[in-house]
Amino acid sequence: MPRNRRIKNKTKKRFKKTWTRVADGLSRRIVVYQSDIEHECPNCYYDKVNKTSSGVCKVEPGDPNYFAVGRCPVCQGRGVLVTTRRRCINGIVIWNPSGDSMNSLTFTEAGFEGATKVEIKTDPCNLELIKNSKYVVIDGLKCRLSNPPIIRGIGSKDILIAQFFTTDKPKKNSGERL
Ligand SMILES: [Zn+2]
Repeated sequence: MPRNRRIKNKTKKRFKKTWTRVADGLSRRIVVYQSDIEHECPNCYYDKVNKTSSGVCKVEPGDPNYFAVGRCPVCQGRGVLVTTRRRCINGIVIWNPSGDSMNSLTFTEAGFEGATKVEIKTDPCNLELIKNSKYVVIDGLKCRLSNPPIIRGIGSKDILIAQFFTTDKPKKNSGERL
């Protein structure tokens, strides 16, 4: 068998194994944080010019959140309420990925000294979610996307590969897994 052919088969096998692990749920939970949504405070009028609470109450005296002077107790004077959006996905997590043939992406140098690289392999249906993410939390560490995620496929099966970096350090004695 020609040498390059043999390598290709080996790669195929490894790919299939990775895909099966993702499909079988033999993977970890990754929390994907999307950009926050801001709602206008229901308790006070929003000052669009200064992007803050106008300090004028919307509700009548007698309401538990009524205020006549000072800061709105509902939004703490910000005029908006922020909703954090997050979703959990499953994927295979590889800390400090080595540069083998399946991991042949080049990392964009983040410019952070001591940044740790992490790669995840997951279902391609998570592409948009990951592309639009603010950050993800893997094993309790906040990680930022370092390269645009890519989809690799062999045969009819595709897998999403995304690379992140973190400047957080794992906490001592934390066996914590999300
Ligand atoms: Zn308010």
